[in-house]
Parts: sequence; structure tokens; C-alpha cells
Amino acid sequence: MTQENILIINCGSSSLKFAVINPQDGDEKISGVAERLSTPEAFVRWKFQGNKDMVEMPAAGHFEVFGKLLDVLKETNLFDTIGGIGHRVVHGGETFKESCLVTDEVVQGIEDCIHLAPLHNPAHLVGIRAAIEYFPGLKQATVFDTAFHQTMPERAYIYAVPYEYYEEQRLRRYGMHGTSYRYVSAKAAEMLGLDLSNSAILVAHLGNGASAAAVLNGESVDTTMGLTPLEGLVMGTRSGSLDPNVFSFLNKTYGYTLEEITDILNKKSGLLGISGLSNDCRAIEEAAAEGNRRAQLALDVFCYVLAKQLAGLAVALGRIDALAFTGGIGENSDLIRKKVLELMGVFGFDMSDELNEKFRFGNEGVITNEGSTVAMVVATNEELMIAQDTAALIG
Ligand code: ADP
Repeated sequence: MTQENILIINCGSSSLKFAVINPQDGDEKISGVAERLSTPEAFVRWKFQGNKDMVEMPAAGHFEVFGKLLDVLKETNLFDTIGGIGHRVVHGGETFKESCLVTDEVVQGIEDCIHLAPLHNPAHLVGIRAAIEYFPGLKQATVFDTAFHQTMPERAYIYAVPYEYYEEQRLRRYGMHGTSYRYVSAKAAEMLGLDLSNSAILVAHLGNGASAAAVLNGESVDTTMGLTPLEGLVMGTRSGSLDPNVFSFLNKTYGYTLEEITDILNKKSGLLGISGLSNDCRAIEEAAAEGNRRAQLALDVFCYVLAKQLAGLAVALGRIDALAFTGGIGENSDLIRKKVLELMGVFGFDMSDELNEKFRFGNEGVITNEGSTVAMVVATNEELMIAQDTAALIG
């Protein structure tokens, strides 16, 4: 049996997603997720050949889940088809500019970035160590969310605060969703017959977390997320950019602590905060259609902020060859795309209602009329990128 597949591991703060993927054609052999880790309700569920399975694992942490994962991969006869493991890592700081094989130095490098991603990087490290323990024969690679944005020029990543904070602590913009931007910008250029090395593409990655990036000649030159994923666009539960004095305002008026305010801005704001209903874009669209004023307002703010920040990113490109929408909202919400392109009319977008409705639910293509600045839908595939990087690195 050939070891052609790659096991993809994505350890979140209290979850672990996994999948086995063929890096040639992207075929997903199995996928699953463990959630509520380190709580009495911890469980793992997975899907294999159309069948769903689930097991409760009370109090299990990331490490214990690897034991179960090994059993499942053996039971499904997938174990012997796996040639390597690819880990998604959220924060690689300035150390990691591309994907790399796991070595002691790489583990140390991820550890050194813990202060930049205190919830995620420790979970990634547990995942890497558990994989070494449970899958000792397999080479492992790390693929960083921040790496693609390491090409940003200083003017795009330096915050206008005393420069010592950058020098001493590497306080700066990093950006996230880099693996998605790398995939989507290359795919968009391919779909349009453009030479990636001579292209100017705006990408809006709109999922629960949302950001946008300016990709010039295949390299990121600016993006909306910052030191952390809180900066930039309005998201499901995150506020996106706001006046930093909101912190002292909430502290003085409500007496909230730093931790409480950080929690409010990350988990109780965005679409959820404005609507008071949900963080889920589809639910908000439905409520707005039924006449809910705050749901409508949430959509209006979401689209306006998105259009405004995309317009800002156009400065980094100098021209727009294409605007690509991706992520759960970008790939499926014709409503959001329509509103955003209307707001960006100054850039010459002329949307086709017919094409905009056609390209949803996994269908990709251009949604603007002839003669318009191009806007399009591209379905992102971060897992495939991780699988391909890993396959290339393990040779
Ligand atoms: P994550 O960031 O967790 O990967 P996804 O990329 O899966 O998130 O995106 C999830 C978001 O996509 C949710 O807000 C969901 O409501 C939204 N979404 C999915 N389908 C639709 C749809 N048909 N219309 C509007 N929003 C949608």
C-alpha cells in the first residue's frame, strides 16, 4: 500500500480537527473533530465513507484524542496509507515565513511565539508532541496562518506606537488566514488566465472569523487582521477595529476588567453583538428578511466595514485585477456580495444578479458583467494546501 495520504491536524484551544487527504486530488478519506476537550463533555466524532461515528471521552485532552485517532485510522485501514502529518499552526511570528518540517528548533520557535497566540500555540505544541508519541514513524510538517503575510512591507505592519514595542516584543500586524489567501489568490489567477506573478488580487475570507488581504504578484502586501484576529472586519462575534479607548470607556463605565473586555470584544460582539440574536450570518440574514431591525443593522455594518476596508486595501495594490470572495459567507451569501459590490461601485464593479446567484454552495466563478472590474467566488481549501506543503516537505 502506498503512503500517499497526509493526516492533517488542527488543534484549537479546546478542539482538535483532523482529516486524511490525498494531496494530489484533495480527496478527503476521513474527517473528524474532537470538541469540549478537557471538560466532562469531551467527545470525538468523525465521518468515513459517508458514515458518521462518535465516542464520548469525558475529560480527555488533545493528547488523549490522539490515542483514539490512531485506533480509528487503524480500524478504517487508513493508517498504512498515511505518509506524513501536517499541522496547522496559527502563529509563527516573524520566525516562520513558510511551512517547514518539525525539528527541535521549530518546536522552540513555536514556543517562542506563545505570547503572540496564548490560546492556540500551546495547543499546537501538545498536538505536535502527541503526534511524535503516537505516530513515531511519520514525518511532520507545520503550516502557519501568519507565514503568507510575512512579505508585507514595513509600512503595512508597523503600528504607530513607540517603536521599542516592536523591537523588544515584536508587537506588529501579522495577519491570519494566510494559507487560504495563498490558495485563493493562486486559484483566482488560474481561473482568470492571469499570470500570478503579475496580478493584483483582493481576497475577502469571510467565515466566522473574517479578514481581507491585498495580494500583489502572488505575495501578501497588506491584510486587515493584526497582532491578533480581533483587528479589521466585523466578524461573527468579534468587533473588528474600533477606537482603542473603548477599553478604558468600558472599564470606567461598567468596571469591567481587561480580561472581561477582551472577552466581550472577541466573543460577544460582531454580528452577535449588534443583532443580539446570533453570530451566524445565515440566521442574521433570515431574521433581517423577516423585518428584524437589529439583524438588518448588523448586516449593514458588516458590509459597510468590509467595503471600506477592501477599498483601503486597494491602496496597497494600486489596481484591482479581481476581488475574490471566499469562506462560508463569501462562498454562499449572494446577499453580502451584492451589498459589498454596490458599496464599491466607485471601483467599477458591475455585478450580474444571475451569476451572483449561480455561484454558491461550492460553485465558483466570476459574478460580474463584461467590462466590469472582476469580482468572483473561489472556494477555499486550506486543508489541501496543508496536505500539499506537507507532501512536498516530506518528499
Ligand atoms: P469558519 O471560520 O468557522 O471556518 P466558515 O468559513 O464555515 O467558518 O463560515 C461560517 C459562516 O458562513 C457562518 O456565519 C454561516 O452562517 C455562513 N454561511 C454559510 N452558508 C451561508 C449562506 N448560504 N448564506 C449566508 N451565510 C452562510
